[in-house]
Amino acid sequence: MLQMSLFDPNPSTARPESLGGADVIYADSASILSRPTGRLADLDFVINPYQGCTFACTYCYAAFFVAEEAQRERWGQWVRVKTNAIAKLRGSRQDLRGARVLMSSATDPYQPIEQRLELTRSLLPIMQQRGVHLSVLTRSPLVTRDIDLFSEFERISVTVTITTDDDAVRRKFEPQCASIERRFAALRQLSDAGLRTRVNVAPLLPMRHPRSFAEQILEAGASRVHIGTFHETSGPFAAGTRQPALKLASEFCWTEQRRTQAAEMLRSYLNQDGRRLAA
Ligand code: SF4
Repeated sequence: MLQMSLFDPNPSTARPESLGGADVIYADSASILSRPTGRLADLDFVINPYQGCTFACTYCYAAFFVAEEAQRERWGQWVRVKTNAIAKLRGSRQDLRGARVLMSSATDPYQPIEQRLELTRSLLPIMQQRGVHLSVLTRSPLVTRDIDLFSEFERISVTVTITTDDDAVRRKFEPQCASIERRFAALRQLSDAGLRTRVNVAPLLPMRHPRSFAEQILEAGASRVHIGTFHETSGPFAAGTRQPALKLASEFCWTEQRRTQAAEMLRSYLNQDGRRLAA
C-alpha cells in the first residue's frame, strides 16, 4: 500500500504545515505500538498514528497526556504526524497474530489531515497481513473511505462516536466535528458493508430524545454501544474532562443527575426486547 503524500518528492506541497488554521508538525516517534493501561488494559496494543487532534473537542481528556504544557494549552490547534509510523510498524518484532489492537486511544485516526496524508490508511494492510484483530475508534465519516481495506481483516470492528442527538449541542461541544446525520450515515455504510459496528456515546452530552436516538442506533446496525459520562476529576496522574466542556455542561444544566438519568434511559431502550446492546 502506498502512502503517496509522505513520500512525495515535493514535500512542501505534500506535507502541509497548517490545515484549517491548525499547525501540522512532522516528527519521528519512539514507538508506534503502545501497551495500554487503565480501562484499556484488556487490549494488547494501541496505535495512534498522530499525536494531537484537530477535532478539538471541548471535553477531550487526551490533552492531559501531552507532556508540554504549552501544547496542552493549545490542544486542538496542532497535530503531530508520526513520520516513521509505517517503518516502525513494519519493523516491529512483536507477534501480532491475534493481538487485540485499538486505533486510536488518544487521537482520531480519521481527523482532517488523514484525508491528505493517508497515514492511517497505509498502516491498515500491514496490520491485516500481521493478523491483528483491530478495533477502530473514530467520529469521522472519512472512515468509510477504508471499507475496502477493513473487509480484508479476519477480525475487525469499527466504533463511531456519537455523543448527542442534538446538532446545536454538538456544535457547542464538538464544533470541528461532522454532524450527527453524517456520522449515522457513515455507521450505516459500515454496517451495510458487513462490518461489525459499534457506537461510543461518551461523554453523553445533553440529549433530547433518548428513545429515538436508541432507535437510530439500532437502525444503523450497531451491535454494541458504550455509554459513558464526564470524568470530573483530573490531576497529574488522571485524565479528566476539560474545563470548557464542564462550563458548557453547566450552561446546559447538564448535571450529574440528568446525565445519569439519560444514560439509564438510553441503556434501557437499547437493552429491551431481549437485546443486550449497551453496557
Ligand atoms: S476526536 Fe477524540 S482525540 Fe480528537 S479531540 Fe475529540 S475526543 Fe479528543
